[in-house]
Amino acid sequence: MSVLRSALRPIARHAATRAYATAATSRVVNGFVGAVGNTPLIRLNKVSEETGANILAKAEFMSPGGSIKDRAALYLVKDAEERGQLRPGGTVVEGTAGNTGIGLAHVCRARGYKCVIYMPDTQSQEKIDLLRMLGADVRPVPAVAFDNEMNYNHQARRYAESLDNAVWTNQFDNVANRNAHIVSTGPEIWEQTGGGKLDAFVAATGTGGTLAGITRYLVEKSDGRVESYLADPPGSVLYNLVENGRLEREGTGSITEGIGQGRVTENLKPDLELLSGAVHVPDAESIKMIYRLLDEEGLYVGASSALNVWAATQIAKKKGPGSTVVTVICDGAYRYQARLFSRVWLESKGLFSALPESLHKYVVL
Ligand code: PMP
Repeated sequence: MSVLRSALRPIARHAATRAYATAATSRVVNGFVGAVGNTPLIRLNKVSEETGANILAKAEFMSPGGSIKDRAALYLVKDAEERGQLRPGGTVVEGTAGNTGIGLAHVCRARGYKCVIYMPDTQSQEKIDLLRMLGADVRPVPAVAFDNEMNYNHQARRYAESLDNAVWTNQFDNVANRNAHIVSTGPEIWEQTGGGKLDAFVAATGTGGTLAGITRYLVEKSDGRVESYLADPPGSVLYNLVENGRLEREGTGSITEGIGQGRVTENLKPDLELLSGAVHVPDAESIKMIYRLLDEEGLYVGASSALNVWAATQIAKKKGPGSTVVTVICDGAYRYQARLFSRVWLESKGLFSALPESLHKYVVL
């Protein structure tokens, strides 16, 4: 027996301590890359009680880079290595404003690659600072639409093409992103629910990797018994596409970040037909759920996570008491807190009034 294991034995024997042991903490993992995945599935007690269902959320804010996108970042890099597009000392280039860039910067540090991030110059200073602290070469460029050649994604592609031993990871249309969830997140949810004892899964999409990969795994593995639903913010075209076949925006913009789409990405395309429906989530519900999760569960989550949980409550009502609905906490509120917890910002979006008075004490900025 190793020194570490024998040292841990008396602790492990202590029943109360064992109750807190999770897959992630009960073993030694190899570096940053080894710590990605195996996140806990958290039962959200209050919303479960209210709906009579079991609402469970995959705690991706506990990933070492702080978000669900660590999984995609790792698989995009592995894919480039396997294809021979990236050799030791090479460069990873991506166009991203957020979590994928942060995940890639971590993986690149851990694997010895250079990381170049093109991002729209509208992004928060916190994200730019974090990416630079992680060693990424951050290149803010004017925020122009996708059909403009100077859009950050096209600049990333062209820069990668100009270098030797470099790859543009292309998270939106490279299906290595979706595959990360077929081989990791989907099987973890299956196992954590005691061999697929769940009725439905629901999540929002940005690139579509999370929803598509988990949907493919759970629906196929259960022979169609487990249903999967899209959760969509205002301004996205996917709600209408799933519900009535029209590629048409529902509402205008949203305060959520990293989710909502104007097109069907290559990651989403193969699994769109497996979805049972979609839930449109107004910003007022997402904001209220951010504060409720803090107040009721002590969880500090970003807006896309709160949107997912509200959508899960709607699916739980549909599936009925006793059902089990799984969703995702994509990241923590830390990257958005200057906005989400500011009264001036909430008022500027017309959302302060969405909060009941009992939650005003959390609006501290
Ligand atoms: N939530 C947040 C905060 C994100 O950054 C992203 C990724 N853009 C998502 C959800 C959606 O994940 P995916 O790209 O896998 O659809």
